[in-house]
Amino acid sequence: MEALNGKSVFGGIAIGKIRILSKGDRIVKREKIADTAAEISRFEAASEIAKQQLGALYEKALREVGEVNAMIFEVHQMMLEDPDYVEAITHMIAGQSVNAEFAVASAGDNFSEMFAAMDDDYMKARAADVKDISNRVVAILQGRHDGSVLGEEQVIVVADDLAPSETVQLDKSKVLAFVTRHGSTNSHTAILARTMNIPAMIGVNYADDMDGKLAIVDGYNGIFYVDPELQVVHDFEAKQQEEADKIRLLQELKGKEDVTIDGKHIHLYANIGNVADVAAVLQNDATGIGLFRSEFLYLGTDTYPTEEEQFLAYKTVVQNMAGKKVIIRTLDIGADKQVDYFELPKEDNPAMGYRAIRICLKQPEIFKTQLRAIYRASYYGNIAVMYPMIISVDEVCRIKQIVEEVKTELDEQGIKYGDVEQGIMIETPAAVMISDLLAKEVDFFSIGTNDLTQYTLAIDRQNSRLDDIYDAHHEAVLRMIRMVIENGHKENCWVGICGELGADLALTETFLKMGIDELSVSPGYVLRLREIIRNTDISK
Ligand code: PEP
Ligand code: MG
Repeated sequence: MEALNGKSVFGGIAIGKIRILSKGDRIVKREKIADTAAEISRFEAASEIAKQQLGALYEKALREVGEVNAMIFEVHQMMLEDPDYVEAITHMIAGQSVNAEFAVASAGDNFSEMFAAMDDDYMKARAADVKDISNRVVAILQGRHDGSVLGEEQVIVVADDLAPSETVQLDKSKVLAFVTRHGSTNSHTAILARTMNIPAMIGVNYADDMDGKLAIVDGYNGIFYVDPELQVVHDFEAKQQEEADKIRLLQELKGKEDVTIDGKHIHLYANIGNVADVAAVLQNDATGIGLFRSEFLYLGTDTYPTEEEQFLAYKTVVQNMAGKKVIIRTLDIGADKQVDYFELPKEDNPAMGYRAIRICLKQPEIFKTQLRAIYRASYYGNIAVMYPMIISVDEVCRIKQIVEEVKTELDEQGIKYGDVEQGIMIETPAAVMISDLLAKEVDFFSIGTNDLTQYTLAIDRQNSRLDDIYDAHHEAVLRMIRMVIENGHKENCWVGICGELGADLALTETFLKMGIDELSVSPGYVLRLREIIRNTDISK
């Protein structure tokens, strides 16, 4: 057995086989192809192998889990032969001279979105299937004959580093834990792991020959055990059981109010990155969504999401939340969230560069598309919107003007929308210092402690060498939070925290005593926070 140390990003224990992902495994690049006929043959050969694999899986499942459960592989085989699907791929290869991997991945995305948008539940469920078969064919084209990117069983994903755009493309149901060599605990990949409620570690110096070996991720202590002895496996299984028991106990808090002993009601919301995360929000009984990182809709695709696609995503989220508040943060692309098609210039200091609201105000056509989608979706539920990386009152005034233009256009087109509360993120020291002025302009503030800590302490949140001095408990950060709450309240502006610090249970009482109105955290933290809120008396 080997015990490798690393840094914990999210607690929890995972036991399973290691799957080392190398760069080529995950990224499907668009390439120009001269001989398109040969490329089509390559696709056809890969599709044939995929069908054989699915046939073998069908037989195996038939023996082990019965015909009803095995059927899915037959359905997958049929989908692979579907003339529309095959034509979409071959036409793309022939018409655009692109490589087979790219054509298959694009067809998979397009068909899956089409299925997801259908009203019929059966057809909706096919979205994941078409993605799955496409992943399988891409994997074969890339020379990995073991099927889909992550294979059939759940695995511990081990990689040098994972970009947010790569993480969002992984099939979550196959991931037991994330372990990376690089990355920082404050990066968006780390945040995604927390949102997904998956144990995660960084800074682990693994060896490439560990692929396929049994391992244990101890996300509490930041230890990665490779090839553990049987007794160690049993010990961790027992810990996993203890953990499950604790979570079961917390379930009793579902349906209970988020109110302190002395009667202050707190809005306990959850953070999400995509539509699928709503399931975890509901499971953990959050009373709203305090941060929908909408930029994840832009990651993992090869072109701008259309107004219609965004509208459907937002509408699905608000409808599933059934009247509970959903706060959508407008596009926060840039810094560690890079998307090729934005063609952002290479910058020396991307965290302080062309990102977030700066892009939206310079390229209002992108911003307006998103705002139209948000406003249209607001007709179906309780939507609020907030803008990231604000540094001035002038920005807020320009945003409001664009919002008015969007509303006028919708009125002229007879498109209905609801009342949309307007908020801003307070995540720059500048916004903190003028929070008295900003409070006059908006309905609420949401404090982004991840960036606020980075800019206040002058510590790049991506730099893992500085993780130990990235101190979100720093008195400067805490004073800023207090100042924002006081300034907000003077102008009837409610104040929340949506950065990771909001889930820091050691600070919950402090925040409550400062007068915080809302806390928005990864879904897995909601019930733990509810327990503390209900046991705190802020009058003492
Ligand atoms: C923050 O900066 O605290 C925040 C919530 O936004 P993000 O982590 O997405 O930058
Ligand atoms: Mg931020």
